[in-house]
Amino acid sequence: MIKGEVTEKRAPKNVFYTSDLVVVGGGLAGLCGAITAARAGIKVVLVTDRPVLGGNSSSEVRLWVLGATSHMGNNNRWAREGGVIDELLVENMYRNPDSNPLIFDTILLEKVVSEPNITLLLNTSVYDLEKSEADTIAKVYAFCSQNSTQYELVAPLFCDASGDGIVGFLAGAAFRMGAESKEEFGEKFAPAKEYGELLGHSLYFYSKDVGKPIKFVAPSFAHDVTQKVPKFRSFNTNEFGCRLWWIEYGGRLDTVHDTEAIKWELWKVVYGVWNYIKNSGNFPEAETLTLEWVGHIPGKRESRRFEGDYMLIQQDVVEQRAHYDDVAFGGWSIDLHPADGVFSEIGQSSCNQWHSKGIYGIPYRCFYSKNVNNLFIAGRIISASHVAFGSSRVMATSAHGGQAVGMAAKLCIEKGLLPRQLSEKEHIVALQKELLKTGQHIPNLRLEDDQDLVQKAEISASSELVLEELMPSGEPQPMEFSVAQMFPLAAEALQNPFKVIFHPYADESTDLQIELRVSSKTDNHTPDVVLEIQTISLQKGRNCIHLVFDLSKHALVTGATPSYAFLTIHKNEKVKLQYSNQRITGLLSVFNLVNKAVSNYGKQAPIDDIGVDTFEFWCPQRRPAGKNLALKFEPSLAVFGAQEVRNGLQRPTHRPNAWVADYEDTQPQLTLQWSEPQSIKKIVLHFDTDFDHPMETVLMSHPENEMPFCVKTVKILNDQQQMIAEIKDNHQSQRIIIFEHTITTQSLTIVLAHPSVHVPASLFEVRCYEA
Ligand SMILES: Cc1cc2nc3c(=O)[nH]c(=O)nc-3n(C[C@H](O)[C@H](O)[C@H](O)COP(=O)(O)OP(=O)(O)OC[C@H]3O[C@@H](n4cnc5c(N)ncnc54)[C@H](O)[C@@H]3O)c2cc1C
Repeated sequence: MIKGEVTEKRAPKNVFYTSDLVVVGGGLAGLCGAITAARAGIKVVLVTDRPVLGGNSSSEVRLWVLGATSHMGNNNRWAREGGVIDELLVENMYRNPDSNPLIFDTILLEKVVSEPNITLLLNTSVYDLEKSEADTIAKVYAFCSQNSTQYELVAPLFCDASGDGIVGFLAGAAFRMGAESKEEFGEKFAPAKEYGELLGHSLYFYSKDVGKPIKFVAPSFAHDVTQKVPKFRSFNTNEFGCRLWWIEYGGRLDTVHDTEAIKWELWKVVYGVWNYIKNSGNFPEAETLTLEWVGHIPGKRESRRFEGDYMLIQQDVVEQRAHYDDVAFGGWSIDLHPADGVFSEIGQSSCNQWHSKGIYGIPYRCFYSKNVNNLFIAGRIISASHVAFGSSRVMATSAHGGQAVGMAAKLCIEKGLLPRQLSEKEHIVALQKELLKTGQHIPNLRLEDDQDLVQKAEISASSELVLEELMPSGEPQPMEFSVAQMFPLAAEALQNPFKVIFHPYADESTDLQIELRVSSKTDNHTPDVVLEIQTISLQKGRNCIHLVFDLSKHALVTGATPSYAFLTIHKNEKVKLQYSNQRITGLLSVFNLVNKAVSNYGKQAPIDDIGVDTFEFWCPQRRPAGKNLALKFEPSLAVFGAQEVRNGLQRPTHRPNAWVADYEDTQPQLTLQWSEPQSIKKIVLHFDTDFDHPMETVLMSHPENEMPFCVKTVKILNDQQQMIAEIKDNHQSQRIIIFEHTITTQSLTIVLAHPSVHVPASLFEVRCYEA
């Protein structure tokens, strides 16, 4: 029995933790940073004030995780972020293709508690800190009301990934809140005060069809939305409520301290919307719907942004500027909203989105405070102007930056450096290298790793795909949109004429306009440079078209790095095209289609000079659609060689960057042969999990739970042809094999199984290490 005698005052229970890094905030930025740091070998305390992880992506808020893939609605091909965030999304896809937010919670929790180097404190809110010097944090204080315990968290390094920047704020770090003027950074898209200041909060709700009439009596606090919400719009009962992201409010308030008031206003709107849906008579189909869930804490978009040694601005995003210290990338549009949100004028769009022609790098100097020496910043609070934040704020981008912070923290601990000191060139190269090894993609960089034993091996393969033809399958399809087949140009194609043969069907004689296009930047996939235009006369019925292209005469590409070409066929309603069931790593068809979810209306064409580019959108269609065009190539495409597995790139960029086996090869194998026996402790393999697939985590169902390109079965043999490792049922991008005892062998043979009859086995990368 415990008896509390009368006393003047008591202190709560106090628990003290010391670690290398304290990460505050368990959103995806903090979580991916903590896992990356822990896996790299340092001790981490991850403290978050919520009962589950994931921040805005958790079941508490239910936003889908997106980043540069942008719902597949812009021209960023193969742009899903790599590293831990990729692992989480791929795992979620495998277990949860129907996007249940509760399952996503379990995946995040599982991944964190599986890391022995992480101490996880849930339901624990950081509220105070102490400094050892004016510019150095010594410890933060946190409190968990569930166990009535106060925590003192001591570390040499802290990462603020709390969304509102509680640590940075308390520590006196320089920050901004609200939109900059156009003049400050020369950002032409910077909003005028009448339009924008901060992005507001939103609350989501879920509805459910219970198959019988359900009555709804609104709470007295619900707004009459017909009076209060000028922008009230249509409601699609099939969407079960959750796409009403535009129920947004608070952009002119203090989005930190007024959050509770903002939430109340949003509840009034949400219940008012539901009342309107149920009781206005305009939605008879909603009769059997009930409210299943309403958010209790709002999704926050914007509050403080902290100042680092570099501030990302609009021009970095639009011009895709390269920085010596790029450690992450973004690719969501610059997505700003009217500050009045749901209460803004009729006719005012709820968002204003402008895309870049490709992904852009985010420098390391955006990820630490410029005046608090041991403070990293991650997530939506990184050092970015309001306009650039409009793009960098989304969760996969935030998570990718968080990973860079996690790895930076590890290097700081290892080298005894502070975050700013790590920004020196020599250290940045080491940071980028360690990140690339985890699968983190960084624009314009490839992994150069002299510890990797594969670099000095002789590589051979049982076969290499030399693609002569994408074989026709099924009936020819009418042209709903203009279509383009993307295919990688081999170096020879820049010097010598090549031929593409295909067989369009015409309902009657007609002309078909065909263009050969490339991108103005090697790693971009915006077909903004038209090299050749050919108009082909078609006869009724099946036509056999031989297109000859001679790129040697084009100054633009002569001597350039070979990249993707787009065989572009303009829409013609009298024409049907033949597609192929064959899917191959690094080959895609794209369509000049519309995707309103990301403000893609086929072409981006700003009327005013707002500092963004005019260009067309050419995007893939989601499976099961989006097949390759049936085409023949002369000469055949020989870009899938075995040497690709050590070119330092783990996804398609300007070329597929993969070894792809021949379809006819019944046992595809790659052999690494050394001149003398090697001691090998670790093997790292990178597979194709379709980096083009956005893998949205809520609301959307996905047609498959394993990516069709991904090799599931792998066997690894030593120089005695003994099996030393085996992977079964793989669905992940990166697999690491660590041998209990170092093995000695002069060769390794990696045997892969084709994923399916339509998809040949492929491998982006293999690396081997002695330790
Ligand atoms: C309605 C809406 C729609 C959006 N749409 C998308 C979208 O479609 N896709 C997309 O990717 N992004 C979207 N965003 C943006 C995105 O959700 C945020 O920018 C993103 O969550 C930022 O990630 P973060 O890790 O910085 O913050 P958060 O996800 O907010 O995570 C921060 C975490 O820190 C915790 N925390 C806060 N204070 C403390 C404290 N004192 N102590 C301990 N822990 C603390 C919070 O509880 C939270 O768990 C949207 C945002 C909103 C609001």
